[in-house]
Amino acid sequence: MTAAASGDCAATPEIHHERGERQTFCGLAGIVWLHRKMQDSFFLVVGSRTCAHLMQSAAGVMIFAEPRFGTAVLQDRDLAGLADANDELDRVVRELLARRPDIGSLFLVATCPSEVIKLDLDTAAARLQQAHGERVRILAYSGSGLDTCFTQGEDTCLQALVPLLPELPTLQRSLLIVGSLADVVEDQFTRLFDRLGIGPVHFLPPRRVADLPPVGPGTFLLAAQPFVGETIDALRARGAHLIESPFPLGVEGTRAWLMAAAGAWGVAPELVEEAIAAPAARAEKALARYREQLGGKRISFLPDSQLEIPLGRFLARECGMQIGELGVPYLDRRIMEPELALLPADTQLTEGQDLERQLDRLRADRPDITVCGLGLANPLEAEGLTTKWSIELVFTPIQGFDQAADLAELFARPLNRRQRLAF
Ligand code: SF4
Repeated sequence: MTAAASGDCAATPEIHHERGERQTFCGLAGIVWLHRKMQDSFFLVVGSRTCAHLMQSAAGVMIFAEPRFGTAVLQDRDLAGLADANDELDRVVRELLARRPDIGSLFLVATCPSEVIKLDLDTAAARLQQAHGERVRILAYSGSGLDTCFTQGEDTCLQALVPLLPELPTLQRSLLIVGSLADVVEDQFTRLFDRLGIGPVHFLPPRRVADLPPVGPGTFLLAAQPFVGETIDALRARGAHLIESPFPLGVEGTRAWLMAAAGAWGVAPELVEEAIAAPAARAEKALARYREQLGGKRISFLPDSQLEIPLGRFLARECGMQIGELGVPYLDRRIMEPELALLPADTQLTEGQDLERQLDRLRADRPDITVCGLGLANPLEAEGLTTKWSIELVFTPIQGFDQAADLAELFARPLNRRQRLAF
């Protein structure tokens, strides 16, 4: 089915919708970066051995650190309804909290198996909270499902935090950045907002769940990630206002993102230009090298992370790449509209996935590089296509001026490797 974007202008790409087989991770993958971000948290996945296996493979790189996630494995007796899974869960949580006094916040994460046996983790979290009192905060959210995309695990996790956010006092205002950013990127942005007199600035997720940011009618929201639409809605229901903006990827996106916040604070654009002059110039200079390598190269995106549109915009406009098909898991107009306006008008934009048909189109097009999920990368490489794992773009600090060239390098590297192998 093909439909013109509703309410679009002449320059907005046409959107094709596709439904069929999909290839993606579930939302459990979000634990991999969320447990690193919120340093007082522990994620207890209530699932099967499959879920435990996914966590181990996705987070394999972190097994040497003291892990802050684990799986309460539902056994056959639980799945058959022969054992009371609630009793088992209470025991596991009791033992975990006794063993790990450092846990400040415990997230019970629902999975397909826990949902199939109708284990109500919201109720379990409330019961366990009562049992364990003030010492630890216990919450629940769902990481299950393969019908959307793996980054939505962060959205459901952050949504679970929204009702707990303290009220921002009346007549006060603050800026709330929504979506996880690496600490180093947060620090850079904090310094820039500080210079512009914009603040106080808070981040969701916070570095510690114990330090939840306030929210209220004086809160202005700036999305740092394109997969936090439900969280934004929950924050708006508490009175917050969304500042519409492209995402802070590349020099252009970062400048627009800061300008949007400055606009809401009444800061003159000239002052913003002055404050960002040095980091923007550094980033432009560093990017020039990659523009030479990437310019004219063709890139396609298979739908996986929700980062596809801002990445495509950056690579087309700042690195001179040509976009082949740009697939997104879903198009969230609540926060994606400003990005759509910046995409080349002839971008072949597809929402949803019919895997085999999409792969056929990819094979016919044979772009220089394809951004895709882990499961597809190896088979495509075996067919001679160069790939980039989309999940890597979620783990890596890529936002802001100082990371613009690093972001370009993430795409230049596989192309260079392929070139070297060809000799
Ligand atoms: S939550 Fe569902 S999709 Fe994710 S690993 Fe467990 S069983 Fe698989």
